[in-house]
Amino acid sequence: MIAVVLRKPGLLELADVPMPALVTDRDILIRVEACGICGSDLRYAIGENPWALHTLGRHVPNPPNIILGHEYSGVVVEVNSRAYEHLLGLRVGAQAFRVCGQCEFCRSGRENLCRSTIHMGHAQGWGHQEYYPGAYAEYCLAWGDLVYPLPDHVSCDEAALADVLCVGVHTVTRAVNPAGDAICIGGGPIGLSIAQVAKLRGAAHVLVSEPSPIAKDVLAQIPGLIAVDPGRESIADAILRATGSAGVTTIYNSTGTAETILETLPLLSESGTYVNVAVHDTPLTFNAMALGSERSFTSSSNAFYRDVAEAYEMIFTGKVKMAPMITHHFALEDFAQAFDLLFQIPKQSFKATLHPGRKREPLTHETPARARLVLAGVE
Ligand SMILES: [Zn+2]
Ligand SMILES: [Zn+2]
Repeated sequence: MIAVVLRKPGLLELADVPMPALVTDRDILIRVEACGICGSDLRYAIGENPWALHTLGRHVPNPPNIILGHEYSGVVVEVNSRAYEHLLGLRVGAQAFRVCGQCEFCRSGRENLCRSTIHMGHAQGWGHQEYYPGAYAEYCLAWGDLVYPLPDHVSCDEAALADVLCVGVHTVTRAVNPAGDAICIGGGPIGLSIAQVAKLRGAAHVLVSEPSPIAKDVLAQIPGLIAVDPGRESIADAILRATGSAGVTTIYNSTGTAETILETLPLLSESGTYVNVAVHDTPLTFNAMALGSERSFTSSSNAFYRDVAEAYEMIFTGKVKMAPMITHHFALEDFAQAFDLLFQIPKQSFKATLHPGRKREPLTHETPARARLVLAGVE
């Protein structure tokens, strides 16, 4: 089958690779209809391992020949057990990760931190395969007990973004008081997912600070959120204008830059939570007084299983809007154009999806060196 392979940092290549093997009873094969290109994929493409940074809290080198892609949906074409025969031919969204269920984290309900997580498209997993290839491919594995059949009114594109939304669902669980006023620093796909979930959790005012014009266009299509242009007014002024108070209960920062953290940490109210969603290996110096009055500073990793279920439910019932986020669609074979577009500064796109189906001549893509410069801005 055709897949996009990350040969080594900076080198993505279209290649003919073996079909994924169904090994366990739960394994099912999906013919990929849509796969989102995640900000973490851009980080993998230039040699980082964001999965390890977020889940293990340390750097882990990536193996060669990763097939990226963890935000996917498609049609079930093969199953390995009669228990999942009812899924054959159905359009499904796939939960891209599976945890061991036995470790201390899993047993204590913190399965999102399981060290033995198998995560499709993240070069993670130490089972029968060297790693679990993702969905930048014609076919991808999933688990029969972790897929969500799609109602007719939900597109495969929207379903692929459930993987983004579940991160937002989980991030909001990190807030001590999710119903308090909140601001999202960074209005990319993760930021707008968090913002929508925060709104659903009862926050009266949810602000989103985002400078890029294309993100502002997307934000305008999602009702209930308050746009802040950090180039035009200070975030402090925007909070005061929108809420009438000097701070907010929760700050969700999906950029993770030291600059934005230091700028906004003083805007956290008493007992509020600062959730740093994008962990970077960067020094951070601040006065410990900033965490007085029971303020807390934390991060968010992946999602619980129930967060994924809730994300699908929110999409199926129309409680959130994910479709406006997809600004560009590409054939799988046009991945190079997609990556070029996503690395551009200023941003020319919001979310791009890959769609397997068209066959072309193999081509090679060197990730632009300047990509390193945009790291701080991607999610
Ligand atoms: Zn993702
Ligand atoms: Zn575990």
